[in-house]
Amino acid sequence: MNAADTLTYLDHAATTPMRAEAVEAMLPFLTDRFANPSGSHRFARSVRQAVDEARDVVADVVGCSPGEVVFTGCGTESDNAAIVGTQRRHGGVGVCSAAEHHAVLHAVEHGGGRVVNVDAAGRVDLAALAEALDDDVSVVSVMTVNNEVGSINPIPDVAAIVREHAPRALLHTDAVQAPCWIDLRSISRHVDLLALSAHKFGGPKGVGVLFERQGTVLEPLLQGGGQERDRRSGTHNVAGIVAMAEALRLADIERADETIRLTALRDRLVDTLMAELPDVIETVPRLLKIAGSAHVCIADVESEALLYLLDEAGVCASAASACASGAMEPSHVLAAMGVEKRYSLGALRMSLGRTTTDGDVDNAITVLVGAVRRLRGVTS
Ligand code: PLP
Repeated sequence: MNAADTLTYLDHAATTPMRAEAVEAMLPFLTDRFANPSGSHRFARSVRQAVDEARDVVADVVGCSPGEVVFTGCGTESDNAAIVGTQRRHGGVGVCSAAEHHAVLHAVEHGGGRVVNVDAAGRVDLAALAEALDDDVSVVSVMTVNNEVGSINPIPDVAAIVREHAPRALLHTDAVQAPCWIDLRSISRHVDLLALSAHKFGGPKGVGVLFERQGTVLEPLLQGGGQERDRRSGTHNVAGIVAMAEALRLADIERADETIRLTALRDRLVDTLMAELPDVIETVPRLLKIAGSAHVCIADVESEALLYLLDEAGVCASAASACASGAMEPSHVLAAMGVEKRYSLGALRMSLGRTTTDGDVDNAITVLVGAVRRLRGVTS
């Protein structure tokens, strides 16, 4: 099945299609250039050079030095390495926002940490954050962009509060959803740790980055061969690393133009839906979120039923409602934002990206309007 011909893919926050340039970049390392980059022979050294070049590219886009880039197996690993690695090394308490991805939230909760409220847009409540901080706190984690509703946290403000109220704590940001929308250089300079995942920006699945500011000492999650200067053992996923760097380089170059193009598409999608369908709310105001996020809550409709009809018509979107003990429950993010249940149970996340076209938006509108009317029992 060729997805591009048969599907309207509006689930870029879940994963993105790999870019052709990234596929091309990785192929030699899946075929001829298969050496282990940690080896000492010439063949290995040439592959190691490719990893080093990828590291330079990632460092340039993140806005750090190459020695501060640690290659990992995914975004989840990067988040866990930051939080668990800090606590294992330095003890102390973890703090995070209530709207974090479970890769952060569960890691913090598992370590007995503190969870801070968010505002109605899903951004961390800065006053509550200040209150949750003290000398016991060793790591604070606040995401750059929320994966569900697309809201952007004010990381410079978060950093100022952390430095004032918990001066010994490390500040981590999960920037997994950020690279296509936000210049990472404007974020990395405020934090000690930052997580990325290649498959969210046109790279392959199963490879990520943890930026570790120089001087930051964590207990590695993986013990073994001492790769990545003892910070992350395990044979390098060379093909993945090389492809990730190429995808990140291109996302960085294209970001400004793509943001303009996709803002227009997103606005048309949401404006038309809200004009055609009564009782639809835009979950987060546009000024507070990334261009690729079209998250709406549709009253009197259940996300699951809606997604089923969309899926039947070839439209890929998502909700994040989880079925808990037989009853539909809103996602932890919408619950933390205080979205009324009548709306949150009809949450729909459509996320746009590099391959999204005008035709995708036209099709999504037609299918969605029809599906909601059908579920609401509207005949015309
Ligand atoms: N953090 C955020 C904000 C995400 O959206 C995701 C993926 O959905 C992750 C972390 C986990 O990344 P990965 O899929 O690479 O483990």
